[in-house]
Amino acid sequence: MIPVTKPYLPNRERLDRYIDGIYERAWLTNNGELVKELTKRLESYLSVENLLLVANGTLALQIAYRALGISGHVEPTEAITTPFTFVATASSLKWEGIEPIFVDINQNTWCLDPTLIEAAITPNTKAIVPVHVFGNACEVEKIDNIARKHQLKVIYDASHAFGVNYKGESLLKHGDAATLSFHATKLFHTGEGGAIIFKRKEDLERAKKMINFGITGPEVIEGLGINAKMNELQAAMGLAVLDEIDQNLSARKEIWTEYKEILKGLVKFQDNSMNSTKNYSYFPAVFKSKEVANKVLNILMENNIHPRRYFYPSLETLTYVTDNNRKIVSHGIANKILCLPIYPGLKIDTVKESIYKAIKHINQEKK
Ligand SMILES: *Cc1c(COP(=O)(O)O)cnc(C)c1O
Repeated sequence: MIPVTKPYLPNRERLDRYIDGIYERAWLTNNGELVKELTKRLESYLSVENLLLVANGTLALQIAYRALGISGHVEPTEAITTPFTFVATASSLKWEGIEPIFVDINQNTWCLDPTLIEAAITPNTKAIVPVHVFGNACEVEKIDNIARKHQLKVIYDASHAFGVNYKGESLLKHGDAATLSFHATKLFHTGEGGAIIFKRKEDLERAKKMINFGITGPEVIEGLGINAKMNELQAAMGLAVLDEIDQNLSARKEIWTEYKEILKGLVKFQDNSMNSTKNYSYFPAVFKSKEVANKVLNILMENNIHPRRYFYPSLETLTYVTDNNRKIVSHGIANKILCLPIYPGLKIDTVKESIYKAIKHINQEKK
């Protein structure tokens, strides 16, 4: 079976060397040596400061909201976000008592459409939570300007944007905070894990306390906290994956480039921001209609190839949100999109052939 993605498994001896260190120190969590080392190495690799490792990408979002003071547990609070993303972007808001208000996406970039944001701002709006979807940079200057004008915080869900640069600098520097997911299926991973990159040091310091129950000394509990710490085993996996990141990226790039070549003219691709680099972590393709996308999916499944409908459904359809107004663009793309298998080690020839045949077959049926 060819799945849409496969976790990257680093060289076993390499991983074992990190784990040997854990055994020698007999230290498994609470800001251990490997967590400290991974923090430094990621800050250097990504060219960012104020990076905080956490247990997963969803907690990264939740802690970022809290550290920036926008929890909704005290007064009615809303945040503007995109309906075209993984459910955790919206559910993490709701979980923190913040009502997600969806603003539609641009039909070419599939990121939040900045021209629609201001109309959705109310007296309860505290933040904008855009997503660099599939690693494509949002229109960060426009979003930052709107946020400044209305005194809103900006938290980018940058779960897909590991290593992406924008105008020659890390994309993760934009916003009051940007969050990453290091889930097993992501480009860079720690099994489960995540990180927050804060713009300001004081927000990082606040978040550091929050992820360890608010405890700041043996007998001091300074404020409300939770457990969101990354442990040493997660960090060991991360360090081993980071050691091999170059070969991971180049393998993806090769597959990505081949897909692009063979699918030219047959599907619609995402328009990549002119100012940003790519990390080749996904290969999304939009088909002519829902029916075509469904047929391609079925034909590929018959051939044991399993693309996924990412992101489906458009999140304004969630039962637990109050903003259920149909977002036309997001809804349309969610219905017609498939993410094709992409991971190092994928034998792309069979996939290419099947996709090509499926699309040809459907086109001929129509004639
Ligand atoms: C993966 C992902 C998350 C959640 O991250 P976890 O590490 O699985 O908790 C959040 N947002 C987006 C856009 C994601 O793709």
